Amino acid sequence: MANPLTPEVLADPVALTRALVDIESVSRNEKEIADCVEEVLRTAPHLTVDRYGNTVMARTDLGRAQRVVLAGHLDTVPHNDNFPSRLDGDLIYGCGTSDMKSGVAFALHLAVTVTEPRFDATYFFYDAEEIEDRYNGLKLVAEAHPEWLAADFAVLLEPTYGMVEAGCQGTMRATVSTTGRRAHAARAWRGVNAIHAAAEVLDRLRAYEARTVTIDGCVYREGLNAVRINGGVAGNVVPDRCEVEVNYRFAPDRSEEEAQAHVREVFEGFEVEVTDSAGGALPGLTQAPAREFLAAVGEEPVAKLGWTDVARFAGLGIPALNFGPGDPNLAHAPDEHVEIGKIRDGAATLHRWLALS
Ligand SMILES: [Zn+2]
Repeated sequence: MANPLTPEVLADPVALTRALVDIESVSRNEKEIADCVEEVLRTAPHLTVDRYGNTVMARTDLGRAQRVVLAGHLDTVPHNDNFPSRLDGDLIYGCGTSDMKSGVAFALHLAVTVTEPRFDATYFFYDAEEIEDRYNGLKLVAEAHPEWLAADFAVLLEPTYGMVEAGCQGTMRATVSTTGRRAHAARAWRGVNAIHAAAEVLDRLRAYEARTVTIDGCVYREGLNAVRINGGVAGNVVPDRCEVEVNYRFAPDRSEEEAQAHVREVFEGFEVEVTDSAGGALPGLTQAPAREFLAAVGEEPVAKLGWTDVARFAGLGIPALNFGPGDPNLAHAPDEHVEIGKIRDGAATLHRWLALS
């Protein structure tokens, strides 16, 4: 099959978005799109190309003082009567238009057209972002070839509607348990009711005042919430155990260890078991490539409230932010679309930042 990513298409981020959307790449089926991307990167004499599974990367080696990464995932969620793409006025509809082939189009367009970037650039196209962690191409390369990702700054081209979303909050889940003593409900005084004891856990949650933390101008609002509660043995038994599952979203000035210590402190006197934890990412906007990126965008950054793959860059010691043309509210939706104006604006911004002239 002829590669639809022709030089003409690569020169135009709007046409490129459509062409990428029209290559089906639901998670675990990224071979075709990875082949097409790899082929065009290999024709560019200023790039060195590597591949790991269906993750493709290309880099310049111009001896610049700093290196930046532009990264995007190639996969999409399953189609929902929204494939292939269609044009409606200024909008391109289709699976992956927002999340995140319009962002991938930025990276691929820059990779082949900016032969003399101001920073050395690594363009990173990975697979399996939309499914379980263990398949994630960025995670796998970070484990197998961390040197491929070495950089001073990373831009993840996930949908942000043209805003700069910096850093991300961490998240952890923990089970807070109460214990009692079983008894027949008819002789309740012989037992200790563990569900009643959980009232104190809920009281502490209700009284909890979550922090609001400002870092590099980004405001992070924390939250500590009960998300599930489990208890009870039978309709005639005083229960001896109750478990309240809590989710703590924490600002990136706290490490995972500090977040755990905090949760244990809030529930002092109770049994606390951490079941899941992922650290956040500091916005890291004070370094030169990030500062110059903000200047090119010309807008104040906002905090990313969910957890994203920027935290994987943070785990490698690389400050990272999200910047993409798609509307994050439309990601994974049947009417997913992207505005052509946002693609043109974003591509112009990235050119201003990355190209020498
Ligand atoms: Zn995405």
